[in-house]
Amino acid sequence: MQPIPFIPSGERSFRYPLKRYLPPYYSGILTEWLNENGSENCDVLDPMGANPLYTLEAASAGHRVFQAQKNPLLRLMTEVLAKGHKEEEFQKAVHILLNQEWHGEKLEKHIQELYQTECRQCKAIIPAEGFIWKKELSEPSSVVFICPHCGESGIHAVNENDLARLSQIGNSAMYRSRALQRCLLEDTDIQKHVEYALTCYTPRALHVLVILFNTLDRLQISQDERSMIAAILSEVCDLASSLWHWPDRNFHPHQLSLPAVYFEKNIERAISQAIRTWTDFRETCDVTAFPTIPTRTHSLCIFDRKEIEDLFVDENASRGCHYFCVFPRPNQAFWTFSAVWSAWLLGKKTAEGMLNTLSRQRYGWYWFAQALCTTFDSIEPIMDNNSKIF
Ligand SMILES: [Zn+2]
Repeated sequence: MQPIPFIPSGERSFRYPLKRYLPPYYSGILTEWLNENGSENCDVLDPMGANPLYTLEAASAGHRVFQAQKNPLLRLMTEVLAKGHKEEEFQKAVHILLNQEWHGEKLEKHIQELYQTECRQCKAIIPAEGFIWKKELSEPSSVVFICPHCGESGIHAVNENDLARLSQIGNSAMYRSRALQRCLLEDTDIQKHVEYALTCYTPRALHVLVILFNTLDRLQISQDERSMIAAILSEVCDLASSLWHWPDRNFHPHQLSLPAVYFEKNIERAISQAIRTWTDFRETCDVTAFPTIPTRTHSLCIFDRKEIEDLFVDENASRGCHYFCVFPRPNQAFWTFSAVWSAWLLGKKTAEGMLNTLSRQRYGWYWFAQALCTTFDSIEPIMDNNSKIF
C-alpha cells in the first residue's frame, strides 16, 4: 500500500482577525514542509496571499518570505500581526480614539449609551449584549443582557426605552450617505455593490462605524497607532454587521444576505473582543514592501503580483525559492467588505484597487479559475528546476 503524504497540523487553534472569511490556517504545516523540502533559510513565495498567517509563520521560522497582496485589509493584517503588539498597546491606541469628543461628550460614553437597556428585574441601567432583529422588520424585537447587579439574564422583548434610545442616532440617512460616499469612485459604477454591503448594517451600527472612521481621520497620531486602531476597527466592522445568526451558530458568510433572525452586537463589547482577537497569534518578523527587498532572513516582503519578475534581479537573487499556495475562497461577502472596509478605515485611495474590482467581479467559477490561472502564469518565469510547490 502506498503511504499517503500527510502533514498533521499543530494542536493549537488561534483566534485571528477575519477568520470566518479566510481559508483555514493549520499551524506548523508549512514549517514542517519547508523542513523536509527546503534548505535552511531558503526563500518562500506565496503568490496568493489568501491567509497571511502562513507567510508570518514561515518568516518567523527564519525564512525570507514574499507575499503577493492586493487586498489592503490583508496587507494591514500582515503588517500589524508581524509587530506582535501586546493587548495593552492596542488598548492604549483605541483609548485615544474613544477619548475624543463627539457632540460635546466622549465618544466612548456616546457608544455606551446607545446600547444601554434596563434590567427587567432590578431596573438598573446596564449595557445590553445586543439586540435580536427579524430580517423584515425596522426595529429590533428583543434585547439580550446579563445584569451585573442582580444576575438576571436572558432574552426580553424590547421596551419603549430601548426603542427611544434608537432615535438618539438622529438622521440615519446622513450616516448611510457618508458611508456610501466614502467608497464611490469617479467613472466606476459600484454604487449598487456598496449599497448592498450597507444593507448588512443596522442604522445604529452604521452610525457608530461612521463616527469611528471620521474620528480616526482627524487624529494626529503615529503611523503605528493609526495602523493598530484601523486593525481593531476592521474586526469591529465585521462584528458590527448583521451577518450573525440568532441563535448563534458557526457561520462563514459567502453572500451578503441577512439571516432571517440576526443579532446586532453591542459595538463597545465588540471593540474589547477585537483586541483579544488581534493578540492571540504571535509570530513576528520584519515586513517591507517592494521595491524594498529584505536582505535578511526572518523577513517578509509584500509585493504586487505584477511586479513578480522584478523580485529576483541582481543582488536580490533568490537562494532557492519554494512556493506555497493556499487557494482563496470565492467569496462575494469578503471581497465586497474588503473594498468597503478598506475605504472606510484606510481611505479611498488605498482602497481604489479593491473598489475597482467590485464592478468587474462576477464571483463565478469561470472567473475564479481564470484568476487562479493568471496567478500561476505569473510565477512561471521565475521558477527554476529546483523549485517546489506546496
Ligand atoms: Zn438587575
